[in-house]
Amino acid sequence: MRVTELQPAPGYEHVLLAEDPAAGYRGFIALHSSRLGPAVGGTRRWRYPSDEAALSDALRLARGMSYKNALAGLPMGGGKAVILADGDVASRVALFEAHGRLVESLGGRYITAEDVGTSHEDMAIVRRETRWVAGLSDPSPVTARGVLRAMTAAANHRWGSDDLSNRTVALQGCGHVGASLAAQLSQLGARLVVCDVDATRAQQCAAACDGNVVSPDAIYDQPADIYAPCALGATLNTWTIPRLRVAIVCGAANNQLALAADAADLAAREILYVPDYVANAGGVIDGARDICGWSPERSQAAVEAMYDTVLNLLRVAVESGETPAAAADRTAEARLAP
Ligand code: NAD
Repeated sequence: MRVTELQPAPGYEHVLLAEDPAAGYRGFIALHSSRLGPAVGGTRRWRYPSDEAALSDALRLARGMSYKNALAGLPMGGGKAVILADGDVASRVALFEAHGRLVESLGGRYITAEDVGTSHEDMAIVRRETRWVAGLSDPSPVTARGVLRAMTAAANHRWGSDDLSNRTVALQGCGHVGASLAAQLSQLGARLVVCDVDATRAQQCAAACDGNVVSPDAIYDQPADIYAPCALGATLNTWTIPRLRVAIVCGAANNQLALAADAADLAAREILYVPDYVANAGGVIDGARDICGWSPERSQAAVEAMYDTVLNLLRVAVESGETPAAAADRTAEARLAP
């Protein structure tokens, strides 16, 4: 394994390029901040158009993890690994063992977990080489519970009541988190309108929560109380925001805003936006059991407390005249300041 320390971008602590040709391994690890604790963030495996694109993704995601962990009040910093998925890999075992050795060489300064393009099984291979890996169980149900707590706080802020029964939620993406969130909302008496590019998945989810299915594009036009993006990023953009007919946006997807300026467009339409990294922190909070040795009870209580975090954030945003996204960033930056 050849590891090259790259000149870190401003605001980052370390950026590494790692190569192990025998294992078909090339990847970047970006450590953004260890101000609040070890840098925690998953390992993404993706086919990028260039090394620059992969590095830029690692940097953006690592910074995002610092903000998410800081806002959630966790004793953790932010980092991220990306493995370049170009060319055939002879052995997934060799690939993730190489990754494990790289993570181990950082001596606990970076703690990894699964992310897009990697699985629990891959992380079990990483674990053979290092103990600095978390989340070997599926975090999705806890992430969904956290989104529900965030949504309930947003409902209280907007309508003065936690009650989600008889509210209609337009939910995009019936995957691990989306399907679990739909089930939890249905149990509370909410009505669901769901979509997925995988029609079978959408049908199964709708059947389980007694909801309706619409086409992936029609989800933006649904008259509903809440839009819950639980698929990919950038679904809040110049084209979709004018179409939304909801009062609240709160979902699990990462990087929901295509541009930072989209937060202002949502506010101008009087749509209350719960920042993505605040709403989807349940999974990483659950990871504190592995990383910080928290008891299941403590971790569960911290997920429940996301309600207070969101309610407080939305109040602060009103008082300061900022969007919730700007208020969240400012709060995180204050906690990360040296
Ligand atoms: P997943 O892959 O299980 O589910 C995503 C679903 O979205 C899939 O069913 C997919 O077919 C669907 N989809 C993709 N594009 C779509 C589109 N344009 N319209 C409608 N449906 C579409 O992923 P997941 O684990 O449920 O995660 C969902 C989102 O939440 C992701 O953005 C992820 O980064 C984020 N997130 C997940 C967790 C977690 O604990 N799993 C934690 C934090 C954030």
